Amino acid sequence: VLYSQLFGKTLRQPPKEAETLSHKYLAQGGYIDQLVAGVYSLLPLGVRVQSKIANIIREEMVGIGAQEVYLPTLQPKSLWEKTGRWEKIDPPLFVTKDRHEKELCLGPTHEEVITDLAQRFISSYRELPLSLFQIQTKFRNEMRSSGGLLRVREFLMKDLYSFHPSERDLEKYYQVVLAAYQKIYQRCGLTVKIVSASGGTIGGKETHEFICLAETGEDTIVCCQECDWAANREVAPGITICPRCRGRVKVLKGIEVGHIFKLGTRYSEAFDLTYTDSQGREQPVWMGCYGIGLGRLLATVVEAHHDDKGIVWPSSLSPYTIHLLTIPQKGETKVTEVGRELYTLLADAGLEVLFDDREEMSAGTKLKDADLIGIPVRVVVSQKSLFAGGVEFSRRGAVGVEVVPVAKLAKKIREVYIQL
Ligand SMILES: [Zn+2]
Repeated sequence: VLYSQLFGKTLRQPPKEAETLSHKYLAQGGYIDQLVAGVYSLLPLGVRVQSKIANIIREEMVGIGAQEVYLPTLQPKSLWEKTGRWEKIDPPLFVTKDRHEKELCLGPTHEEVITDLAQRFISSYRELPLSLFQIQTKFRNEMRSSGGLLRVREFLMKDLYSFHPSERDLEKYYQVVLAAYQKIYQRCGLTVKIVSASGGTIGGKETHEFICLAETGEDTIVCCQECDWAANREVAPGITICPRCRGRVKVLKGIEVGHIFKLGTRYSEAFDLTYTDSQGREQPVWMGCYGIGLGRLLATVVEAHHDDKGIVWPSSLSPYTIHLLTIPQKGETKVTEVGRELYTLLADAGLEVLFDDREEMSAGTKLKDADLIGIPVRVVVSQKSLFAGGVEFSRRGAVGVEVVPVAKLAKKIREVYIQL
């Protein structure tokens, strides 16, 4: 894409309301724009990163046998009354009425909708186990929305629900999902800790959170210094030694980037979701649910991958593969010409290129913008580089520039990308 044509430009100053680093950098880089507190527009660069995250998640979900569905945002009150959550859920529901005065909510989660749906389709043990996921917009009526994409009122979420003939089958699949989640975070460039957590208003006998350690995080966790035991603050109040190995514990800050729940039969009982086993007996269906907020994951990646100039994207999530920019001198046309040729050449080679083709901008501005945007590979065409026999090739966040002949550039980029 040509940067001169791209909607959403960099900002010299972060927005006044920005409290977290990810909010600052995402706004400054031209990725997001705040409408009101906790409600954001994603600009074209932001959409590209979110799509890459969605693709990684989708691949891993399909990889563990889940099928994709798309469930409605508008949910009738009658479903929520069956589980008693219409009043009780925290944060409270966004409630609305249709023109016939019927109450509906904007879904913050989909246990009610999916259990109701499953109840109409599942009747025999032959249909189990089953797992369904969606990537869909959720609404949370937060008391206080701040921190950019870390705490919002409207966001895209991946939610997976699984249905099992027995507790043991649920246990087994829960471990499979846990491993898939670790792969998702790893592919997004995040290191996470798996932490025992409480079920809150979702419920569940056993639940785990995935926490990315960060000084700025608002979640507090307690970790063993000797083994891998860890729990969040609600589960571990007052614990001074590890319950598993009796080692010393420490308190750390982090950001929750995923939460998984063994729901048991709470929802299936409320919706009369049962199946007939191979002996013809009626049995309750066991359920699990598993969530990842995409915007929060995106913001957490920025919290983990940046320097004092802006974002440094992991190659798997970068909105483009290459940031190409030209530094033309007044009165000459060669640099611009080579830049345009390169743009076509790299695009034809199947690489995703952001080409800063602006003629009127200074070299300093273009380089600053490239730092803010954070694409990991940068190619600069200038008179100096052409004189030295090619174009300047560098990695975002690394020191050192290499001059690469134009003819060898596509190959060079591929080699570097394999290492990243
Ligand atoms: Zn321990």
